[in-house]
Amino acid sequence: MIPQKTVQEILETAKIEEVIQDYVNLRRRGVNMIGLCPFHNEKTPSFTVSPAKNIFKCFGCGKAGDPAKFIMEHEHLSYPDALRYLARKYRIEIEEVQLTPEAVAQQQAEESLYILNEFARQFYQDQLFETDMGKSVGLSYFKGRGFREDTIRKFGLGYAPNEQDAFVKKVTQTGYKLDFLKKLGLASQYDKDFFRNRVMFTIHNLSGKPIAFAGRIMEKDAKAPKYINSPETEIYIKNKNLYGAFHAKTAIRKADECILVEGYTDVISLHQAGIENVVASSGTSLTEGQIALIKRFTPNIKILYDGDAAGVKAALRGLDMVLEQDMNVRVVLIPDGDDPDSYLQKVGAAAFQEFIDKESKDFILFKTNLLLTETKGDPVKKAGLVRDIVDSISRVPDPFKRSFYVKECARVMELEEEVLVSETNKAVKQILQKRDFDKRKKQEVKVNIVPENDGEFPSEAPPESDDFPNIISPKPRTAGHEFQERDIARILVEAGGKLYDENENMTVAEFVLGNIEEVLEDFDNPDYLRIAREAMQLVLGKTPVTTQYFIGHHDQTISELAVDLLHSPWEYSPGWEMHEMYLRSQKKPEDNFNKDSVSALLQFKLRKVIRLCEKNQHQMKEVAKDDAAQLIRLLKVQMKLNEMRNELMKQLGMVVLK
Ligand SMILES: [Zn+2]
Repeated sequence: MIPQKTVQEILETAKIEEVIQDYVNLRRRGVNMIGLCPFHNEKTPSFTVSPAKNIFKCFGCGKAGDPAKFIMEHEHLSYPDALRYLARKYRIEIEEVQLTPEAVAQQQAEESLYILNEFARQFYQDQLFETDMGKSVGLSYFKGRGFREDTIRKFGLGYAPNEQDAFVKKVTQTGYKLDFLKKLGLASQYDKDFFRNRVMFTIHNLSGKPIAFAGRIMEKDAKAPKYINSPETEIYIKNKNLYGAFHAKTAIRKADECILVEGYTDVISLHQAGIENVVASSGTSLTEGQIALIKRFTPNIKILYDGDAAGVKAALRGLDMVLEQDMNVRVVLIPDGDDPDSYLQKVGAAAFQEFIDKESKDFILFKTNLLLTETKGDPVKKAGLVRDIVDSISRVPDPFKRSFYVKECARVMELEEEVLVSETNKAVKQILQKRDFDKRKKQEVKVNIVPENDGEFPSEAPPESDDFPNIISPKPRTAGHEFQERDIARILVEAGGKLYDENENMTVAEFVLGNIEEVLEDFDNPDYLRIAREAMQLVLGKTPVTTQYFIGHHDQTISELAVDLLHSPWEYSPGWEMHEMYLRSQKKPEDNFNKDSVSALLQFKLRKVIRLCEKNQHQMKEVAKDDAAQLIRLLKVQMKLNEMRNELMKQLGMVVLK
């Protein structure tokens, strides 16, 4: 166990921004710092770090806490282990006291994988520098590739001797358990060394710990594969890891660009030459997890390809996924016969850098050109090409970027722009429809689990998805009255606890709810109704209505909705646009929630009145011509309703209609 006074020391020493900056690119904004949340996928930063309060908070997913909490969440560590991590970072010595046997066992299990990998890394390094075989086979190979000794040490390169069990013996002498060795793939099931006569590459996690190895074969003409890798373990998840990321992350932030290559030696060569913002996907095509990793540091990827056009073409297939993530992808083709490493050796660092800057091409345009050379005027092939390109363009979330691509690709392919526009729109619509369908399915489930909802469920339009606007035809949007309810819910979540009127000491939630109390149950949308009801209960219980209450709500429907409300920008609602009404505070809602509250309420009430008017008029048509008493009663109601309507419209600044 860690003594309490050491815990205190760690918590007092650890600076939130320093801890987080090892993982997330932070920018200063006022007194706080912001960045892209590492816990959920986002395009605009809602992850906020407060150096003054020494806490972080994500307004997107709700994750929040101190440095220890961040490490727990991010590295999947227990609280004590997160403290140990911070202690190591800040060089605070921990004198562990009175560990229970279970705690020892658990801690050992958690740490031993790292410890053993570190032990292996050291072993392979010693073999490389201190044994004759290591020097003559391994070191000479690395030196032949032009790696300096400091580079070799920095990247944890090594040599696995050509013996059956040199490593296993060493490990058992030291007293480590063979079980862990097998788990890490360092020993075979027959207790032999897994890596033999191979030069070794250490794979690090983002904080620089060795999590896996790759071994390159040294025998010539061997039947065994050229490279073999450690298996996946708790500490090594292949598709979330990029080789070189630990050594590259600072440079990637600085350059605001990540260079992607294929091989380990490419990464090391470029790094040694001073081009440090480089990682490798280790042969596999990019995975979603790897894209997410890059995206934490930069939205810009430059991919270096070598090899023939056919190979490159196959590689391009996997890249549509990167487009969906709204990353800017550029492609560089290394001249025939060379890989990045060998080309760098040939031309030198400066010329290499200049080459990749000058020759890098936008991915979609590159793909278009590449495929176009293959069609050679064949109309069937060309039709296939159009489909292929349209498929790529339609995945780009930004409509402006999409229309740029449509223009450029149409020009390159010598097509009428309209053809490409309509094809792209079709594809975009398909994507949208699929998303709406998925979202609606989700909503239907929600309705089913809200038994108190007996109101009509909005069927006219699916909820908008903010992240995927269409190019030409406006996307289907939320119906007008739902917008008003959404705005009320949003005001409650976002500003409910703020003071509406300082003199009366009234909160925004109290003001809003006080005004719609009698019509609360008229909400059409069951989700927004739930937000309003929850807020009402808080107000009645004299509990502050806070954003955190909704975001951290135990009911996932509520917490997801709250996040959604905070996430999506304020926008014109169609109904309000029609009356030339607008939310005055679209850009900075936090400054103007009072005005918004009033507008939202008036709009909401107006809709209710208009509905009553319609209902009343309908009744007047139904009533028998000779039932004068009833007709007069309805007329009186109508007059009263018209009065109310006009009053509301006047307050809203609308032209009163006759
Ligand atoms: Zn988040």
